[in-house]
Amino acid sequence: MSKQPKRIIEHALLEGIGPISAERLLGLPETEWGLLRSAITDARRARPPSHIARCLRCSGPIFIQARAFRGLRLPYFAHFKGGDATCPWHTGGTLHPDDARALQYGGAQESAAHRMLCEQIAELAATDDRCVSAEVSKYLPPTDNERGRYPDVLIVRRDAPKIAVEMQLSNTFQTEVSARCLHYEREGVGLLWVLYGLDMQAEDLPQSFRDVVLRHRGNAFLLDDEAVAESLARRTLVLKCYLRGPDGRFEAGRLIALDDLTFPTRGPPYLEDRITPGLLARGEAARAPWRAALRGRSSDFSYADLRSPAFLAANDHLCGLVPSLRQWEVETYQGQWMIANLIAVVFSALSHANGTFRNYASRQENVQALLNSKLPSENLLPFALIMQEILQRAGTDDLLLGSVGKHLDRALDLGDGNFVLEYEAPWLAIERLLPELFDPLLRFELETLDALPTWARPKADAAATTPNPPAGLANPIQSLKEHHGFAHRLG
Ligand SMILES: [Zn+2]
Repeated sequence: MSKQPKRIIEHALLEGIGPISAERLLGLPETEWGLLRSAITDARRARPPSHIARCLRCSGPIFIQARAFRGLRLPYFAHFKGGDATCPWHTGGTLHPDDARALQYGGAQESAAHRMLCEQIAELAATDDRCVSAEVSKYLPPTDNERGRYPDVLIVRRDAPKIAVEMQLSNTFQTEVSARCLHYEREGVGLLWVLYGLDMQAEDLPQSFRDVVLRHRGNAFLLDDEAVAESLARRTLVLKCYLRGPDGRFEAGRLIALDDLTFPTRGPPYLEDRITPGLLARGEAARAPWRAALRGRSSDFSYADLRSPAFLAANDHLCGLVPSLRQWEVETYQGQWMIANLIAVVFSALSHANGTFRNYASRQENVQALLNSKLPSENLLPFALIMQEILQRAGTDDLLLGSVGKHLDRALDLGDGNFVLEYEAPWLAIERLLPELFDPLLRFELETLDALPTWARPKADAAATTPNPPAGLANPIQSLKEHHGFAHRLG
């Protein structure tokens, strides 16, 4: 091992997630490290402030810094200025936001161009019949006892949420973006960042713009000549929206009105959520072959179903994701069949957690009856630890209190040697199928977006957020796409 001082933080500890190496951070897509970057800053700006990311070497608070490297934008963990300079991973200070801001504006709070743009937005918004007021830099008194803010433009319309528009001309610092996002979220005001004078198809968008676009879930809102002309023609504020594609590039801009936006319970509004579907896709893709196979089961749930081409294909797919599973199935009597049966039971239990029970494993009418009949069987018994873990993590922990819990306890009394343990292939397979339950980083990201699927939320949380699960959620898997339980449309 080299004894040279290292110039980067090699490992960070993230609260609720665990250790993350610099290497793993570098391997994350920009949307994912961007979410972490925002969450770390938000926690630091929240009341009370907290540091959710720390250097594993000196325990000092850290943040995620984006650096340009050979045309790429790469994330690194960095200590805050004034951190422990004796830390071997310390790289020297970064500029304090206040100092940097002073440099940027030369001390002036806002430029004349900025002011003109704000006035233009207010004028365009005021042409709308439903507009009650559209005011520039109007003091917005807080609903709690913290100091209020002057949004660039505050738009109040009948039958619509209040909107604070913030113009972003040049660099707005991450800490400032964070503070405003937190403030307006607390106040229940939709925060719309409007960019100006940018070529969205340009290669290198500054990090501060990327931060704002990510907050809008991959949407960039611009005011340009076309948007102004359309606003005047339609007598309402129209902006140009650029959606970020999966490759990171922006699609062609389209003209949108404020009524086209979705206002989520957390974070700024958006036209289309370009972040959450990508995060949910990994689990959905892993489950898709099983979902297809389970839906095609015969009405008598014959064991022969589990040897049908659809189940064989699903098993092949899963073994492709977790290669050690194939070996386990070969070495275990009835191994492949046991895995298929386990997945049928797990998917049934999760459909219950999602609010509408669908049984993929038997004809029993509720999840208790299903689990009570299946858990003691020799085919499911080895997975008792897995079942317990899933029921605890999903919104089904109440099941553990009743007869299902008793069956599980009885099974677990058999002791070690009777169960598939955590490092064995079936665990890895279940973790791969259900990253929403088992991957702490993904869970954190989805929580940040208030987009954890209902079935992956702890019970109390699920009850608080969705008191009545909407009808028609046939199963957790299908419902992921249609219902994230987080967005309500306004207008
Ligand atoms: Zn350190």
